[in-house]
Amino acid sequence: ASWSAEQHIAVAERRSAHNYHPLPVVIAHGEGAWVTDVAGRRYLDCLAGYSAVNFGHRNPELLAAARAQLDRITLTSRAFHHDRFAPFVAALADLVGKEQVLPVNTGAEAVETGIKIARKWGYEVKGVPDGRAVIVVASGNFHGRTTTIVSFSTDPAAYRGFGPPTPGFRIVPYGDAAALADAIDADTVAVLVEPVQGEAGVIVPPADYLPRVRDLCTRAGILLIADEVQSGLGRTGTVRACDHSGVDADIYLFGKALGGGILPVAAAVGDAEVFDVIRPGQHGSTFGGNALACAVGTAVVGLVRDGPYLDHVRALAPVLRARLDQLVGNGVVAARSIGLWAGIDVDPTLATGRELCERLLQRGVLVKDTHGSTIRLSPPLVITEDELHWAVDQIAAVLADLRA
Ligand code: PMP
Repeated sequence: ASWSAEQHIAVAERRSAHNYHPLPVVIAHGEGAWVTDVAGRRYLDCLAGYSAVNFGHRNPELLAAARAQLDRITLTSRAFHHDRFAPFVAALADLVGKEQVLPVNTGAEAVETGIKIARKWGYEVKGVPDGRAVIVVASGNFHGRTTTIVSFSTDPAAYRGFGPPTPGFRIVPYGDAAALADAIDADTVAVLVEPVQGEAGVIVPPADYLPRVRDLCTRAGILLIADEVQSGLGRTGTVRACDHSGVDADIYLFGKALGGGILPVAAAVGDAEVFDVIRPGQHGSTFGGNALACAVGTAVVGLVRDGPYLDHVRALAPVLRARLDQLVGNGVVAARSIGLWAGIDVDPTLATGRELCERLLQRGVLVKDTHGSTIRLSPPLVITEDELHWAVDQIAAVLADLRA
């Protein structure tokens, strides 16, 4: 009945589509920042489900919220009110300082929701004729995998062969506010941007970028949509990565960590004057805002608001930064970080990101390459200072091995 790791991997290879290329480890258990494989070997998780497990595996408070809800009711659909819905949307809206929430399931769905709200808002409020709306996006973006979202990806692996692309998007270089200014015209309804680009390799834009984007949107009378699916809910030490530049977007998109690593929970968050363009029957999903999701989401909001996590991230951020700076020049070409989130460009003559990840796996550290020779660190926010040092020690050791 119990399969070996080799058996799991062989069957997965044969019986699942190859839409991922998992590292050769079969995880069976998790607690906090640690996971255990089917053979009982422990690994420090420095990916945290691409930031979906921000509060640690099987976070006790989140598990308690989920368990309590499992014993009450889990799903009603939105055909009826249920008693976990209002507390969740109110708590999330308050956390973000906005009036309303449109709950969905996944990050990509939140992005699609933001796009639909912006287009409808452009049509009804700004008077852009139906079918003409343009949303300006940034090169290097990652917003999800739907046909519309990959239409404005700049990664050929994401879009090639999946056409025809959805029209209505204009791509400008990330971090370039002047190019953005040129791209905004009378048909533009919104700018959609990651405040820090995650999948691109944790790209932190110039300090004046987001304030300038905000200013351009305000002056053009268009919406700023911040995709905080990966950057939000504590990853950078703040509720939103936008908080680092004092910028307030019109629509925020959250996902990943909002489900506490337990189930998919995502949401668009904004003010009533914008969200009012969506009327009954015009958008939604069977599972969006379900009772179990709302119970967990409410508990997540509580952890972000009241927990020690954000302070802990802010305390560890300079520690991580200093350790990364030591790696630069020692097998690392460049390293970027904000909060407990880092992109490390390894010297491509030493190893691919994949090779590095495989070597780190051997040393008990789980990380993932993003592309080429870049790896990303996004450990659970419960990681201790000692564990963080140990993880970076392993990276340094692998680089030393490769250089030897
Ligand atoms: N936006 C951003 C910024 C992301 O990083 C991701 C996932 N990597 C998504 C959207 C899509 O989220 P999901 O995989 O839940 O659809």
